[in-house]
Amino acid sequence: MTRPRIGLLGGTFDPIHIGHLALARAARDALLLDEVRFIPTSHSWQKGNAGTPAADRLAMTRLAVAHDAGFAVDEIEVRRGGDTYTIDTLIELRRELGLTPALVLILGSDQLRNLGTWHRHEELLQHAHIAVTQREGHRLADLPAPVEALLQAHGRQALPDAPAGAIVFFVMPPVPVSATALRAGLARGERPAELLPPAVLDYIERHRLYRADSGR
Ligand code: ATP
Repeated sequence: MTRPRIGLLGGTFDPIHIGHLALARAARDALLLDEVRFIPTSHSWQKGNAGTPAADRLAMTRLAVAHDAGFAVDEIEVRRGGDTYTIDTLIELRRELGLTPALVLILGSDQLRNLGTWHRHEELLQHAHIAVTQREGHRLADLPAPVEALLQAHGRQALPDAPAGAIVFFVMPPVPVSATALRAGLARGERPAELLPPAVLDYIERHRLYRADSGR
């Protein structure tokens, strides 16, 4: 294969956890990705501005991926600031990387369900493929009509040799963890060491993030 394949895993990563890392590994293995870029949002128009500062989420993401040579962190959305729209990120990445590499947007099934609400979602597939995996509690059936329409037009069994344009599915063993549940546990004073990379848990404790008394 001569065309490089670059996986893109966007998220709030508030905080980054073992589910995100397992997702990136599963996508890399299933889709033969050369690299996976983790892209923390600046702030999410879907989730509001109430979360942890981007600098902390970026720092935790860096710590989480530091030991894997095939993983990188891309600051593109934090640098751009403002509301994060994936279409803007893809256009900017194409400017940086050119038209040759395949870009593969990696999504959990919760995000696929929302896809029809994303800004200029019809244009995403002009710039990237979309690779989706089933996430526990988020069925892949009965999807909203705009998403079904995209699947009808772009669904494929496997990634074609093209830079963009296909929607494919891949399988990963379920990792039942969500950042929302982690934040709630941390606020209750729990120490979920099995769900977070050790360096991330250490960062959270040193910076007193997610504590009930920290106001977040
Ligand atoms: P929250 O609970 O705050 O919504 P999250 O971890 O679901 O947090 P993000 O950090 O925005 O949300 O997730 C980034 C991407 O990782 C999304 O595509 C999401 O579907 C996927 N993802 C998150 N957790 C898991 C998991 N446990 N297994 C598979 N995919 C996951």
